[in-house]
Amino acid sequence: MTDHAADRAFRFCPQCAGSLTSQQIKAGDPSRLVCDRCGFVFYLDPKVAVGTIIRMDDDGIVLCRRAINPGYGRWVFPGGYVDRGEMLEEAAIREAREECGLEVVLEGLVSLHSYRGRTPIVIVFAARAVGGELKVADEESLEVRTFTAETIPWGDLAFDSTDEALKAYLQRPRG
Ligand SMILES: [Zn+2]
Repeated sequence: MTDHAADRAFRFCPQCAGSLTSQQIKAGDPSRLVCDRCGFVFYLDPKVAVGTIIRMDDDGIVLCRRAINPGYGRWVFPGGYVDRGEMLEEAAIREAREECGLEVVLEGLVSLHSYRGRTPIVIVFAARAVGGELKVADEESLEVRTFTAETIPWGDLAFDSTDEALKAYLQRPRG
């Protein structure tokens, strides 16, 4: 199922509970969900996610094996959705702590990912572990462990953005 299919599940106006219908408001724009009763336009915006590629002291890169769909059983670096009003950097640090128990410092932007027809925008940071303990820290992971550049499970990564960001990360000059 694509995100577009999920978008069509919105049937009622969040302002007045009137019916939403799909309308072309402006030539060239996508059709919008408009309330028949109050005229509210329900813009379906992207969702912003952050991911963090964390390097440990022994040079290992942290990946989590997902315990949830999408991507159940596949590997991804820690990450998740940014809360409204939250800074990207705060969200990246929070997700690393919540998902794999590590305190991290960020070391710059790795890559940006967006895909036609898909809802998430993914922003990936590089980070270094400075504290905490690598462990499964929430119910979203089956397993967390480190990989070297040579052992990353390329055929078993959760998302296109996971694959693309890890490649971009490994191609970065190291300071
Ligand atoms: Zn309405």
